[in-house]
Amino acid sequence: MRLDPIQRAIDEDLVRVLYAQDPIAFFTHWFSIAVLVAIYWPAVPSPPLFVACFGFYAAANCGSLALWICNRRYPRLASPRGWIVLHAVRGMLLYSAPGLAIWFAFQSPQADLPLLHTVMLVTLAGGVFMSNGFDLLNFSTAIPFLLFPSIVMHFGTHTFDRTILAIVLAFFFCAINVYAMSYRKLFRQVVQARVDQQYLAESLAEQKHVAEEASLAKTRFFAAASHDLRQPLHAIGLLAASLNDTAATPVQHAKTAEHIVYNVEALNQLFNQVLDLARLESGVTQVIRLHFRLAELFERVGSQYRPQAAAKGLALRIAPTAMIVHDDPVLLERVLSNLLSNAVRYTEEGAIWLGVRRAGQAWGGYIEVRDSGIGIPAGEHEQIFEEFYQVANPQRDARQGHGLGLPTVKRLVELLGGELQLRSAPGRGSVFRFPVQAGEAGGIVASLNETAAGGPSTQGRRVLCIDDEPSILEGLASLLARWGCSVRGARDEAAALAVLAQGFVPDAVLCDYQLANHRTGAQALSAVRNALARAGHEGVVTLLITGDMASAELTALALQGIPVLHKPVTPARLRRTLEMLWQQAELDRGRAAAPVSGQRSAPMSGPVTDPALPPASALREANADDEV
Ligand code: ADP
Repeated sequence: MRLDPIQRAIDEDLVRVLYAQDPIAFFTHWFSIAVLVAIYWPAVPSPPLFVACFGFYAAANCGSLALWICNRRYPRLASPRGWIVLHAVRGMLLYSAPGLAIWFAFQSPQADLPLLHTVMLVTLAGGVFMSNGFDLLNFSTAIPFLLFPSIVMHFGTHTFDRTILAIVLAFFFCAINVYAMSYRKLFRQVVQARVDQQYLAESLAEQKHVAEEASLAKTRFFAAASHDLRQPLHAIGLLAASLNDTAATPVQHAKTAEHIVYNVEALNQLFNQVLDLARLESGVTQVIRLHFRLAELFERVGSQYRPQAAAKGLALRIAPTAMIVHDDPVLLERVLSNLLSNAVRYTEEGAIWLGVRRAGQAWGGYIEVRDSGIGIPAGEHEQIFEEFYQVANPQRDARQGHGLGLPTVKRLVELLGGELQLRSAPGRGSVFRFPVQAGEAGGIVASLNETAAGGPSTQGRRVLCIDDEPSILEGLASLLARWGCSVRGARDEAAALAVLAQGFVPDAVLCDYQLANHRTGAQALSAVRNALARAGHEGVVTLLITGDMASAELTALALQGIPVLHKPVTPARLRRTLEMLWQQAELDRGRAAAPVSGQRSAPMSGPVTDPALPPASALREANADDEV
């Protein structure tokens, strides 16, 4: 039986206090034996019985000392409760001898002996109250043996003064019990306060440790991040300066420019990885589950990494599967891409396998990425999931990555409701695996590859852009104009409503999140949507663009399925997102006109009501990076 922590602490304290009094009790009982023997000595009644009784008393006292020595020397011999019970047994034996010995007083011809013996017993009872009163078991096994025989014997005399003495003794017995009860309560409160204080101190120490660890991790994070960001910046600075060198040939200039582009790309990639992680941490990343064929996703990621694997002479084997999963294909693709890119990077010979293991489980299965690469030592299995941690890259050579892939994968898998597992040993390859839920064939709305094929063209689309920053408005307008869109710009909500009032009906509204005068893009979009709805234009595509990561409102918008793009937004991502949103809007319009049984249509800018429908995929794309 497991004791609660308070009871255990009480027991431990009880053992300490009970046994601490024993040496004093040892001398007290020898004194009691000496006094009792002295007062009976002139005329010992029933000598053999008397010797047996006091011999037993002396033996019990020696036994009590032996128990005390055992407890001191071998505290682990019994549990705290065990020591308490042993102490109670010792008390019962020790106090029964002087208690029962009062019988000799009533056998003696000396009239004052019962009184003298009773005084001795009351003194001993006082000692029991002081040393055992805080434990019910020890108190209630000692006191009755000490006082009951005396009360009974005095009553038995049927004389007035002895009956009064018996009543006083009985009253004393009750009073001492009541006092012991409050004594025990007080003891429990004191122990509880001590335990609470101890817990508080321990939890404070733990919190301090966690805070120190977090601070250390942050310091490591910033040290690694600033190093990895500084490197390409430093290179770009030097290369840019060398462009001023008039003595350099055009070929050298071209080479320098090539290096600059390479470093800018590296910088961009690192930024995207850091932002990706920040987005995952801030909780704005949406999970939108679709029913889809896992083989399609495997083929998609496989085709990305097959050329890289082949270039290193590695075979990339994808296990055929007919499994339909219910998961977020975009997040899953990012997980697999990261794992496959690592598998290719850290494998020099052999093969890489991608597959799913179901083992007859109805709920789903485990996706596995295996490689025959260098493997990871057991001691590093936890650290590799820390940001910027790399097993063997002390020079922090950017060509060997930045140590952000696995932390991202771990968070993505957790966001999808699973746990990333790793089996790996140096020279024996690695296996990363995580669970996926089984889906239903009836829930598949479109093939993943159809979604990726690109949506309707941007040509001829009308776009309303809302941003309080003129340079961004200008940049957006010229980009969209290059794509064949007709664009109107507005600095705020009022200006946007004025554009609508002039009869401009947009196909899409792009809005910055932070607008002037403490207005947000969400408020502006809501006003624009309402104005368009009043004019009979429903389902216009809206898209928020933000540089914020962790505002509560953004998290709420993400949960509702409002499309949000996070800065920096590359032109390719903006175009792909817009095309997908338009494609989805058209699909929705088609469905509204001819509803298919068993499917509900989901409004583009409202909450995602049916995760099985493609709006989810379109919205998800709005948060996906172009680069993994
Ligand atoms: P990166 O690969 O960019 O360095 P990751 O976070 O993806 O960062 O990986 C962290 C570390 O884990 C890597 O530096 C590498 O040492 C180790 N690692 C990851 N995947 C594998 C793998 N498949 N085989 C061996 N080592 C790996």
